[in-house]
Amino acid sequence: MDSHATRPGSAVLPGWFHGEALLMQPTLPQPLPVDPAWFSAEQMDRLGRAPAAVVFSPAERRVMRKKKAIRPSVWAERHRVLPDSASYSGKWRNSTVPYLPGIMDASFFNSVQEIVICAAPQTGKTEVNYTCLGYAVDRRPGNALVVFPDQDQAQDNCNDRIQPMFEDSPRLRRYLTGRQDDQAAKRLRLKNAIIYMAWANSASKLANKPLPYVVLDEEDKYPVTANKKEGSPADLAKKRTRTFAHMRKIWRTSSPTVEAGPIWMALTTECQLVFDYFVQCPHCGAYQKMVFTGIRWPEDVRDPLRMKAEQDCWYECRGCDVRWDDGDRDLAVRAGEWRDRDKGRGLDTALRSLQPVSIGFHIPSWLSPFVHLWEVAQAWLETDGGRNKIKLRDFRNGHAAEPWQALSAERSEDRILSLADERPRGVVPGGGRVACLLAGVDTQDDGFYYEIRAFGYGLERESWGVREGKVPTFEALAQVLWQDEYRDADDQVYRVLLTLQDAMGHRTAEVYDFCRQHRGMILPTMGKQTMATPHTYSKIEFYPGTKKPIPGGLQLLRFDTNYFKNQLAGLLEIEPGDPGCWHYHGQVTRDWAFQMTVEGINEKGFWDNPQGKANHAWDCSTLLLVAHDVRGVAFFPKPDPDAAPAKPAKRAVQAPAKINLW
Ligand SMILES: [Zn+2]
Repeated sequence: MDSHATRPGSAVLPGWFHGEALLMQPTLPQPLPVDPAWFSAEQMDRLGRAPAAVVFSPAERRVMRKKKAIRPSVWAERHRVLPDSASYSGKWRNSTVPYLPGIMDASFFNSVQEIVICAAPQTGKTEVNYTCLGYAVDRRPGNALVVFPDQDQAQDNCNDRIQPMFEDSPRLRRYLTGRQDDQAAKRLRLKNAIIYMAWANSASKLANKPLPYVVLDEEDKYPVTANKKEGSPADLAKKRTRTFAHMRKIWRTSSPTVEAGPIWMALTTECQLVFDYFVQCPHCGAYQKMVFTGIRWPEDVRDPLRMKAEQDCWYECRGCDVRWDDGDRDLAVRAGEWRDRDKGRGLDTALRSLQPVSIGFHIPSWLSPFVHLWEVAQAWLETDGGRNKIKLRDFRNGHAAEPWQALSAERSEDRILSLADERPRGVVPGGGRVACLLAGVDTQDDGFYYEIRAFGYGLERESWGVREGKVPTFEALAQVLWQDEYRDADDQVYRVLLTLQDAMGHRTAEVYDFCRQHRGMILPTMGKQTMATPHTYSKIEFYPGTKKPIPGGLQLLRFDTNYFKNQLAGLLEIEPGDPGCWHYHGQVTRDWAFQMTVEGINEKGFWDNPQGKANHAWDCSTLLLVAHDVRGVAFFPKPDPDAAPAKPAKRAVQAPAKINLW
């Protein structure tokens, strides 16, 4: 044993702590931490009991008497005070967030070393971390490391959550040293333990001192590059706790991001037991796992804003079909319990029978007293039936607490080719369906990729590819856009109403000149990853990098690439025959189709092209949707078919230009 053992009164219980163990203060002897009802006899032996040789002072015995063993949830109701910055403040009540106490108690079940909490935001999940830290300090002290995604969050959480937890609770306050320098933003030095704060890319901080407690907060938000050489933060945490094998606890708490993200991998592949929360109907008493499909609203409500305004939403009990409002839902959660995914056993039974080392909990938002049922419905309606991919990702991560699958895996070139119809290249669909032609141009050093597309009337944005390809020069581009004619089967001629050209990165000054010479027909554009509005104009007076004025100036159209790429991805999922389909003509090439598949949504929710493959078709298509929005094509009035027949299409005076069908 180390030098602590020779000091009078330093009552380190053999078997309970290992190796050099803890920074024990002589005035704060070890509590008697065990609850026979919770631990088996065999575990009790392993934990050890106070050896007869240790002599306690009367003061120590008084402290120890007060510390009768209690579960963390019971401790929390007695000693935990929530700071004002929490979801709710004041004394902790287990009934407020009824699914959390079970997780706290299970955390300190003897066999358990790793606790994975995969939860939606606003479920109170971090309170488990903090309460367990407080309990640990009071009941089984040991040093702790709390890891946040970045330094700011580490400091904020230390200042706003962890320090106030100790200051606000009379029980925990006694562990503060009263020395200002012990309450730094990077660590909190207590009388009997130190809580270290770290952030994900301070890998060295994760690797040094051994300690028994590690909290990994919002693990899926850690930078991916952080610890490639040293291993993941979870691996490092396990290494640091290795010497405390029988008392260590590692809490991993996060909202999920993608399937391969750490929290989803941990929940689905590393946990020996995964628990789901079953609620109990306050009307019929039936237990059930709350699922999203149980959340209902009137069928005609499709607009998320209307949902927000009317808040007409309920949960339908699978036992009795009674509609729960938020209040019933809260009652049902309060009467609920955790059950293991495998055999449906309750928490105690499952823990006792399997003695698991690692356990996981899954918490969707609709269990939370801080989330209204209508908010879940609203978030779903915002996905537009799953077509808006960013909103769908937000819904899955933020409400269902499930991972998002990268989109690129969902789109294949065969899928794109299946959108082709029978039309030859260059032919516009007839029958009065087409409101106008639009074009998008992707500028390269050696030429221009373009697509000309026919758009239908209405908000559905149904569209038909007419012609696409690459031309080598501005002259050839002008020919394709404004001199060649595009006709439908009835010989009606259609002109390209608006062309948008990418002006950034390649040949900007030349693009400006080209757009200036064809004012009213083409606009230069600049895509940005996120903007406050889908698109906006800015006037440019000078050629890039010069003081040379642009004659007459030029409007540059800036647009939100993510916004329009989301729309595009949604449109590409519509089946031919359904309104809004993104059709191709019958001669579209496999290469063009492939270019529509290379971009995907990354873990930050932005579209990118990770392998840098050719994606000109995708960029042209995005510009087409911007053009559709800019010109307000969705609001073009559809000609009345019963009105007098329109004048026969004006035949071109000259012989129609031959359309190159290459
Ligand atoms: Zn019921």
